[in-house]
Amino acid sequence: MTYTQTGYKFLEGNVVKIQGIKYRYHKSREMEGTIKTMTLKRTPLGEFFIAVVTDHVATGKTENMSRTAIGIDFGMKTFLNLSTGEKIDSPLFLRQSMMDLKKAGRNHSTKKKGSANRNKAKLHLLRVHERISNQRRDWFWKTSKDLCEKYETIVLEDLNLNGMQRIWGRKISDLGFAEFLGILEVQARKHNTKIVYVGRFFPSSKLCSSCGAINRNLELRDRVWTCRICGEVLDRDLNASRNILKEGLRLLAG
Ligand SMILES: [Zn+2]
Repeated sequence: MTYTQTGYKFLEGNVVKIQGIKYRYHKSREMEGTIKTMTLKRTPLGEFFIAVVTDHVATGKTENMSRTAIGIDFGMKTFLNLSTGEKIDSPLFLRQSMMDLKKAGRNHSTKKKGSANRNKAKLHLLRVHERISNQRRDWFWKTSKDLCEKYETIVLEDLNLNGMQRIWGRKISDLGFAEFLGILEVQARKHNTKIVYVGRFFPSSKLCSSCGAINRNLELRDRVWTCRICGEVLDRDLNASRNILKEGLRLLAG
C-alpha cells in the first residue's frame, strides 16, 4: 500500500502515525529531504516494512566520508572481499604450494609405518609445510601493509573461528585468518590505521546493504540474492563487506 502526502505522519522517537494509529518502528537509516511517498509492505512471514521515497539527491558526501574506511569480509572462495568491490585472493604460487602440501600428505600416509620411506616422506611433508608458512606469512605482511597504507579505518568481523569451522566444515586454520589478523594489527599500529571489529552476531550476510531488510532464508550456498523488500540484487560477499563497513562506522560514531 502506497501513500503519497497524506494519511501518515512521522513523529519523534521512531513513531509513525498511519490512519490515526501510532506504530513504533526501527529506522535503518536517517531520512533526508522531503517525503514523496511512503509504502507499507507485509512479508509472507508477517513482518511489516516501511519504504520511504524522498526528493533527496545523494551528493556523494557519504562516498567521500567513507573513502578512507573499508569493510572486509573473509571468505572461503576469496580470501578478502572489500566493500569497494575489490577481491583479494591468495596468490597463485600459494595455491600451487597448497596442492604440493596435499600431495606430500597423501604420499606420507601411504608409506608403511616405521619404514625409512615414511620417515623420508615425513621430512618432505614438513619442508613443504614450512615453505608454505613462510610464503603465506610474507604475503600476509605485504597485503596488510598495502591495506593500512591505503585506508585509515578497517572494519572487520570479530571472527568466531570455531563457529566458522562448524559452518564451513573445513580446517579454518588452513586459511590462516588468525595469523593474518595478528599481522594486520601490527601493520595498523605502524600506519596509524584504526581497526574496528563488529560483533560476531551482527548478521552481515543476511542484511540487505541497500535497504537494511533482513533475509532470514539466506543459505550459505546463495552467492547472489535479490532483496524481497527493495529488489536490489546483491552479491553475497560484497553485500557482507558493505554491511560490515556500515556497522563499523556506526560503532565509531556512537
Ligand atoms: Zn533491500
